[in-house]
Amino acid sequence: MKMKKIALSFYLFFFFLTGSIATAQVVGIQEIGKYQSGDVLEDNEHWVEVIKGDMPLVLSVPHGGRFKDEQIPDRDCPELGRVVKGIDMNTKELALAMQEYFYAHYKKRPYVVIANLSRSKVDQNRAIELATCNDPIGTKAWNSYHSAVTAVIADAKQYGKIFFVDVHGHGHKVQRLELGYGLTTKQLTLAYNRKNTVKMPPTSSLENYLTQGGKRDFYDMLFGEYAFGTLLEKNGVRATPSLQDPYPQEGEAFFAGGHITRKFTAADFPDVFGMQIEFNFKGMRDTDANRQKFAAVFAKTYWEFIQHI
Ligand SMILES: [Zn+2]
Repeated sequence: MKMKKIALSFYLFFFFLTGSIATAQVVGIQEIGKYQSGDVLEDNEHWVEVIKGDMPLVLSVPHGGRFKDEQIPDRDCPELGRVVKGIDMNTKELALAMQEYFYAHYKKRPYVVIANLSRSKVDQNRAIELATCNDPIGTKAWNSYHSAVTAVIADAKQYGKIFFVDVHGHGHKVQRLELGYGLTTKQLTLAYNRKNTVKMPPTSSLENYLTQGGKRDFYDMLFGEYAFGTLLEKNGVRATPSLQDPYPQEGEAFFAGGHITRKFTAADFPDVFGMQIEFNFKGMRDTDANRQKFAAVFAKTYWEFIQHI
């Protein structure tokens, strides 16, 4: 009798486990085309949230989540690499302000993909093993986010070449936006001096733009008059790389762009180009008023950029 009871609870445990695995997808994301712009899709576990858009701009927010789902243990696998667990504070709120600004002023919405699950459980901006420490439920949450981005890209394609922005927050000393094209400080310095630039573009998040008929060249896209960073600076927001601030100086910390940016701007997604943007906190994402102020600058910059490239 006792054995039977154990067997039953095992059965129930596995039923529960496989049941929850089967639903670990953003509900309806594979049929996103059936939904309206502004509709919010979410998975049953509240790990991932998608707001459907109607323009070729996708914002991904992998590190703004606060949900510490107890189904998933805290990440603890230093043998696989450096385990970073901190939140990029207010990046979800920043991306939502950006989306709202576009709708309020242009009646168009960028697509937004948000990880509500805390980075202490899954780091969506790492390759799957380090991201999840090989936890099976964490693995499902990682897949939920990555398949949501994939589905959003497939849907956004109908509006044209997709500009993809992975939204992050840094705590570095220099108060400016760090634009991560997959290029390190050393590479940006070389590129600015027009050295060794043959091998660089294919490893950057601009490669699809360059090979799919974009009218600007690699140098112009980083440092030219209409580079995204140059336009941000012109509109009052400090950013590197740009014409005004071409590359970080020696000793200055800089994020070159991570897993998500690399993956979704690679050859598998030929309609996508873009960057990781790392935001400083103060004046950018600290208050509602500053987030709205940045949202206005971003929208202005985006339209100027898209028009000229
Ligand atoms: Zn981050």
